[in-house]
Amino acid sequence: VGIFSSLPEVEKDEVFDLLGQFRVDVHPQRVNLGAGVYFSDEGKSWPLEVVGKVEKALHEQQAITRHDYIPIEGDDQFLNAARDLLFSSTFPNPSGRQTSDPRVVSVQTVSGTGANHVAARFLANHVRPRCVWVSDPTWANHHVIWESTGITPRTYPYYNNEDCTLNFTAMIDVLEKESQPGDAILLHACAHNPTGLDPTQEQWVAIAELCSRKQLFPVLDNAYQGFASGDPVQDSWAIRHFYNHQPPMEMCVAQSFSKSFGLYGQRAGAFHLIINDTSESTRGKALGNLAQLIRSEYSVAPRYGSTIVKTILESESLSREWLAELQLMSSRIRSMRQALYDELTRLGTPGSWKHITEQIGMFSYTGLSAAEVEALRKEYHIYLLSSGRASIAGLNSKNVEYVAAAISAVRN
Ligand code: PLP
Repeated sequence: VGIFSSLPEVEKDEVFDLLGQFRVDVHPQRVNLGAGVYFSDEGKSWPLEVVGKVEKALHEQQAITRHDYIPIEGDDQFLNAARDLLFSSTFPNPSGRQTSDPRVVSVQTVSGTGANHVAARFLANHVRPRCVWVSDPTWANHHVIWESTGITPRTYPYYNNEDCTLNFTAMIDVLEKESQPGDAILLHACAHNPTGLDPTQEQWVAIAELCSRKQLFPVLDNAYQGFASGDPVQDSWAIRHFYNHQPPMEMCVAQSFSKSFGLYGQRAGAFHLIINDTSESTRGKALGNLAQLIRSEYSVAPRYGSTIVKTILESESLSREWLAELQLMSSRIRSMRQALYDELTRLGTPGSWKHITEQIGMFSYTGLSAAEVEALRKEYHIYLLSSGRASIAGLNSKNVEYVAAAISAVRN
């Protein structure tokens, strides 16, 4: 018996656990619908061409072979570009439109997870919300991150199991009745993970009005900008609505470049705090406290991915190339939704499958039960989360018929 014998048992992270199982599965028809990673129609992970082009150029200029630390707060040019991508209603923005807005205090993070963590820690230290409201269901890591700060997540209804739609009425009802001034509320800015269901613009207006009236502190998690519609401006509509709200709202945004730039392992991200008191003193203290938090946790963010992102976003022509690839990725996912729906319907698979084409972004909340998911894995070597969440990016023209036939078989 040692000091660590009584460590608590913890649940494995399902996404990474599934990925491990998938890697050792040698079945020729194995299909990975677990991880939120974009794969091409050849079933391969897909470094964006514009990213590869920029990497090559940066290597030639020796601009990416310098490995010095970036500042604790992050790379200024990257943060300016990251802010524009979120808050500007136009794209591309090579000249930098919003970069001087004194309401926004930005720091660079270890991708979107790091940004969520900085948000939780910073709010836990300085806003001390009684709880954080998260959607039921949400990205599992939201629970883990917030629990690690001692702030209890409470859930608001989001998903209607019966017809696989957004349960907006129940969401508003619970928040109206049970939230208290000062509570934090976590909202997915677009392409909700895991359900693929986003509020309409009208519903976003109502959510923002509720947050403002009830003095909830919004934390907008923005991990899929561009994946929902193929247009980063359209996908940041909710963020801009909160940002431009009257009366102005204090809030924050966690931003990831993992999916949209295919930079997963490079950990490029940012955290943006929107404050009402824009005096030099308050801005300075906000930045100072964020920098102190970062210094104690990861000291400085990685520079490789953020250098690529800023190089693309600072150039109008590279931005347009990125946009074209974003559209290609999101439209391939849309066509796979349609192909899966068509095949399931053609096979007469019991149940309604319309939600597969109606949901957006990378994921579909298929409505498959945990038992069906297990049968798909054990009998057909198809991997998806036990909640029924499938990453549609794992489908391609060669495996979609196999997957539909397997779903049909486990349903029948
Ligand atoms: N937030 C949500 C809702 C996500 O789905 C993800 C990734 O799966 C992230 C944040 C953060 O991802 P990363 O840390 O790779 O940027």
